[in-house]
Amino acid sequence: MDAVDPTQPYDPENIFARILRGELPCEKVYEDEFALAFNDIGPQAPVHVLVIPKGEYVSWDDFCLKAPDAEIAGFIRAVGKVARDLGLVEPGYRLLNNVGPDGGQIVPHMHVHLCGGKPLGRMISG
Ligand code: AMP
Repeated sequence: MDAVDPTQPYDPENIFARILRGELPCEKVYEDEFALAFNDIGPQAPVHVLVIPKGEYVSWDDFCLKAPDAEIAGFIRAVGKVARDLGLVEPGYRLLNNVGPDGGQIVPHMHVHLCGGKPLGRMISG
C-alpha cells in the first residue's frame, strides 16, 4: 500500500471508516462518543491497540487543524483511559502516530498506536 498524503481529502471508504460504521469487524477494546479502540491486526508488541477518533480526519495534522477542542480533549482522554484500563500505566507504554510518507502512515484515518506489554527498546530503529 502507498503511504498516505496527509493533506488528501478524507476517503469515507478507508478501512477504519468501515470499521467505525460496523461494515468490517474489529476486536473492540473500548468505545465512547469520541473514540474507538481495537486490537491491531498485525501486532508489533504483546499489547498493540489502535485508538481512532470518531470524526473524519485523515491524519494527526488534519485532526489538530480541524477537530473542535472538545473532540481533541475527548480523544486524548480516551487514549489515556484505554492505557490505564489495560494496566499499562505502571509498566509503561508507547504512543505512536504516523504522518505521511516519512512517518509511514498507511491507513488514511487518524489513529494512535498504543503499544506495551514488554520493554519496547529504542524509540526508532533502522
Ligand atoms: P499506519 O502505518 O500508522 O497507518 O498503521 C496502520 C495499522 O493498521 C497497521 O499497524 C495495521 O496492522 C493496522 N490494520 C490494518 N487493517 C486493520 C484491521 N482491519 N484491523 C486492525 N488493524 C488493522
